[in-house]
Amino acid sequence: MWYRTDSGGVGVAFTDVSDGNLAAHTGDEPAQVARRRRRVEQKLGTGLVRYAWQVHGTAVLDVTGTASNATDLLAAPEADAVVSADGTPVGILTADCLPVVLVGRRAGGVPVLAVAHAGRPGLLAGVLQETVAAVRAHEALDLEAWIGPAVCGACYEVPTEMAQQAEEALPGVATTTSWGTDGLDLPGAARSILEDHGVRVREETADRAAWCTLEHDELYSYRRDKTRGRLAGLVWVSEESGRNA
Ligand SMILES: [Zn+2]
Repeated sequence: MWYRTDSGGVGVAFTDVSDGNLAAHTGDEPAQVARRRRRVEQKLGTGLVRYAWQVHGTAVLDVTGTASNATDLLAAPEADAVVSADGTPVGILTADCLPVVLVGRRAGGVPVLAVAHAGRPGLLAGVLQETVAAVRAHEALDLEAWIGPAVCGACYEVPTEMAQQAEEALPGVATTTSWGTDGLDLPGAARSILEDHGVRVREETADRAAWCTLEHDELYSYRRDKTRGRLAGLVWVSEESGRNA
């Protein structure tokens, strides 16, 4: 486990290579992926985590009050963010793209939980704004975000034209890599977007070199290894285990 915290009755975690590949869409046997997911859920003490079928878009899947299709991992609905307002644990899968966990508080209710897959296309298309809106749609206030492990701005090289186009859409996102070529700082851009929308970003995620997938072998990096492995960003209600049992 790369990171785990308990914050006011909500658990947040990011897995690492020791937890294995948790994605069903990258070629691993779904039954094996399902077993690994169960192991992670047992380790964290969560119920069944709900994932989406990620497509680099901006659709938000709201699983509140819905039944899972746990028996068929390949049948997960297409979306790049998942929200729950009934305590259902939700997860997002990445290997260099940015996993973001969001938590909103409601007076007298369970917290609203959300995760988003913010790679370059999704970030530019507004997946974080859509996710924040979906959390607020449940009358959640006091939103807090964790920006998970992702390739950092010193390591994420892109073609010059792509960097220029991204910079026009999201001023400040363009960077120079540590070897002097054009790059993008997705974690930095995500932080700006979240803060512009009134979301408090957890400081422990601010040191992006320390949270860089490409620089740490304990994290899956598609750019480094062309791996099938995906790490999971997870959020659950930790004080009310059994609520969804
Ligand atoms: Zn890096």
